[in-house]
Amino acid sequence: MKCSNCSKEILSDSEFCMYCGKKIAVSDDVRHVKLNNIIFTIVIIILIFCCILLDYKYTQAKHENDFFDKSAGIVIDDKTKYYHTYNCEVFQNTKKGYWIYNVEAAKDEGYKPCPKCH
Ligand SMILES: [Zn+2]
Ligand SMILES: [Zn+2]
Repeated sequence: MKCSNCSKEILSDSEFCMYCGKKIAVSDDVRHVKLNNIIFTIVIIILIFCCILLDYKYTQAKHENDFFDKSAGIVIDDKTKYYHTYNCEVFQNTKKGYWIYNVEAAKDEGYKPCPKCH
């Protein structure tokens, strides 16, 4: 690209002529390309951010599922001595339910699997 003032060869994306210092008029095309590049970059960043967020939520949900799979729901004062899964109606309907950290521990305490959820 040539400077319109001094006609010397200058870099095509320069804002000022490096020889005479004249401001180079940036054509609308160049502006458009620059704007599109900025928008494109922002969209990519948002997409990457969404991916990270989704992956994080997925990982968290998976961790929660692992927790509930390995854990046993116990109902205090429950004479039946059953342990439950998270979705069991018996466990969902009680206010005295709590989680024991794993099924093996529940078995050691003499709990048996609830016939409704196991
Ligand atoms: Zn110039
Ligand atoms: Zn149950």
